[in-house]
Amino acid sequence: MTTHAMTADGRGRVLADGNEMPLLGLGVWQVPDGPECVSAVRGALELGYRHIDTAQAYGNEESVGRALRESGLPRDEVFITTKFYPGRSDPAVEAERSLRRLGVDHVDLYIVHWPRGGPTWAWPGMERARELGFTRSIGVSNFDTGELQLLLARPGTAPVVDQVQFSPFEYRRGLLAACERSGIVLEAYSSLGTGRHLADATVAEVSQRHGRTPAQVLLRWCVQQGVPVIPKSTRRERIAENGQIFNFSLSDEDVAALATLDGTGGTHRAREGKWW
Ligand code: NDP
Repeated sequence: MTTHAMTADGRGRVLADGNEMPLLGLGVWQVPDGPECVSAVRGALELGYRHIDTAQAYGNEESVGRALRESGLPRDEVFITTKFYPGRSDPAVEAERSLRRLGVDHVDLYIVHWPRGGPTWAWPGMERARELGFTRSIGVSNFDTGELQLLLARPGTAPVVDQVQFSPFEYRRGLLAACERSGIVLEAYSSLGTGRHLADATVAEVSQRHGRTPAQVLLRWCVQQGVPVIPKSTRRERIAENGQIFNFSLSDEDVAALATLDGTGGTHRAREGKWW
């Protein structure tokens, strides 16, 4: 188990800056802007999700904002993450544009999408976005241990989250340990392997033992370690299924069996293949 603080209900993490982040969110990468995205986000909010993960690069912030408004939920009950697209130059300017598209006056977490051009140049702009009240927390994504260390070496605000590809198949133990030592929450993306990990035999065996689905087992494996997950689906029944991960536990043996699937060698890296 993690040494970091959990929220009182056990379903969230207390970030190093004191803000709280729900362990379960809906990811909307590859969901086109428009009715499909609005419906997925609305469905998730109806089903009890209180955390949505979008990005400037996904092009669907407007739909996320519309779904949030249509849900009728108070703004402060939903944790919204968006990501600075590092092909742009000024994170504070881009944050303001995101807020306009989302129709909110702040997001909860604003992260550098990937360390394009190096890990530190965007950070002063991220800090400015926070100081201006555009976001409550700031973090990074796709940063490896060395890149985090370079960022932590500079004075100022430290990142509170590193969002990376993480699952039993990408069990980045080195990076996870480095994050925990530095008070950074490692957040998992693609924890279903963008769908690829769902057919694995070991995952199937553990699922059958618990009367659960492969998706639930993969997600539970993360949240049981205090790692937030943001599974993507546009199908209501799957969004519901993916939300049912707080009413069962994996045994130590299950957790260990799943960990044997790791193909990264417990790496400190954030990605095996970089797209930047
Ligand atoms: P996931 O690992 O969450 O898998 C999503 C895929 O699995 C979709 O094809 C979905 O299909 C299918 N699926 C979802 N739930 C189930 C289920 N219960 N049973 C069967 N199939 C299921 O994919 P992502 O790669 O999208 O990662 C999740 C999120 O992480 C992204 O949406 C994004 O928010 C974030 N992310 C961040 C990145 C970064 O660089 N920071 C990079 C990649 C992702 P269907 O929709 O048809 O149900």
